Amino acid sequence: MKGIEINMKKISLVVPCYNEEEALPLFYQEVDRVSNLMKEYEIEFVFIDDGSKDKTCEILEELASKDDRVMYLSFSRNFGKEAAMYAGFVNAGGDYVAVMDADLQDPPSLLPEMAAYLESDEYDSVATRRINREGEPKIRSIFARIFYKIINKISDSDIVDGARDYRLMKREMIDAIVEMGEYNRFSKGIFGWIGFRTKWLPFQNIERVAGDTKWSFWKLFKYSIAGIVNFSQVPLSIASWSGILFTGVALILILLICIRKVIFGDPVAGWPSMACIVMFIGGIQLFCMGIMGQYLSKMYLETKRRPHYIVRKTNKEEQVRKVG
Ligand code: UDP
Ligand code: MG
Repeated sequence: MKGIEINMKKISLVVPCYNEEEALPLFYQEVDRVSNLMKEYEIEFVFIDDGSKDKTCEILEELASKDDRVMYLSFSRNFGKEAAMYAGFVNAGGDYVAVMDADLQDPPSLLPEMAAYLESDEYDSVATRRINREGEPKIRSIFARIFYKIINKISDSDIVDGARDYRLMKREMIDAIVEMGEYNRFSKGIFGWIGFRTKWLPFQNIERVAGDTKWSFWKLFKYSIAGIVNFSQVPLSIASWSGILFTGVALILILLICIRKVIFGDPVAGWPSMACIVMFIGGIQLFCMGIMGQYLSKMYLETKRRPHYIVRKTNKEEQVRKVG
């Protein structure tokens, strides 16, 4: 039926929201403003209420009743931003799909430029990268830098420092992402892994318009470990390599002690050195087992094949995949 349709492309905006009652009205206003500048596109909102405890769901219901471009899914509990994005990708119907935060840290005003790049057919996705981290706690920036250094050294997919999840992608990419149904998700790794031609747009960091960050330091730390474990096998080989190294060193030391005893008749000295060695080797073993445990626990969750999300409420019952 393509022939009769007016040739208007649809852009879906996937917006994960967790306790965003303050930011949402501002976000909606801003996107509405930008969409008026993009008359050649049809806009669809896909809001995902990630089990918010505040009035987020009510606000979304109200928006949906006023504006039929709005689709919302409300989760049965907090499943995390990754699950929310996945649900958005599964249910987005656009030719182009963008993910963006509800706090306006991902400026909607970049959308026309992003769409123009896709239109030129030189790129399949346009991603954004912050060139500074102003307004973020210092310690968080330092840890973020270290994380990106490490993960890029030890994984195959290219993960750009300062990259945000904010990007506009063509349908083919979204289908590929939905196809990657792994349970432990790390989107920046997934985007890199599937490939396609990506244009990077740098922009200055903006502080969130309202509300507080939903990521505690601990949550971010766990997320970065997940990122490493999901996209690299190097930690596993650290375990075996350090095993080989320490067995080698221990062998040489034992030989030295034997030679000293046999040739020079030295007594083998004291237990403190022994205790140190035992503790050291014990520590290494625990560390290696810990690494394996990390992978094993991921496999454990993966084999259960649990859904990523469960929808409690939505305004588009007939259209939405409620468990995915
Ligand atoms: N978010 C979510 N579920 C969570 C945590 C965050 O859906 O468990 C959403 C949040 O509402 C926001 C986006 O993910 O739209 C990014 O979160 P935030 O702005 O707090 O992160 P930051 O920008 O500080 O990294
Ligand atoms: Mg934010």
